[in-house]
Amino acid sequence: MPDRATALRVLLRGCLRRCPNCGDPGPYRWWWKMRLRCRKCGIHFEREEGYWTGAMAINLIFTELVFAVIMIAAVIETWPDVPMLPLLLVGLAVNAVVAVTFYPIARTIWIAIDLLLHPLEADEVRETTELRRLRDQTTAHV
Ligand SMILES: [Zn+2]
Repeated sequence: MPDRATALRVLLRGCLRRCPNCGDPGPYRWWWKMRLRCRKCGIHFEREEGYWTGAMAINLIFTELVFAVIMIAAVIETWPDVPMLPLLLVGLAVNAVVAVTFYPIARTIWIAIDLLLHPLEADEVRETTELRRLRDQTTAHV
């Protein structure tokens, strides 16, 4: 397990949609389109089949927390005449927008958590080292 400063740095990179392993800002081609590998350190983001289940759980928890905070605040603010239909519509919109918007961040947070709990294995390190070596050779001859 890495020390606290390293763990915080890795988690912060994940929260900022950066590669948790090296901090490169480019894991995504655009908001939702993730590259297969980090363009700087070469790690393969989807480390095994079914890997994004953890990201989906993070996304669901965050979305429902936002939903709960908004709903509780609205009920407290409008009590005792709670406008149920408008509140229901706002709740549906919040769930859709937050879930779709936050998912890319949930993915990089999940990669960070996974890297902290399950550091790169020897074959992954060899693979990324080889890819970086090949990339450097290719760019050196251009
Ligand atoms: Zn990286």
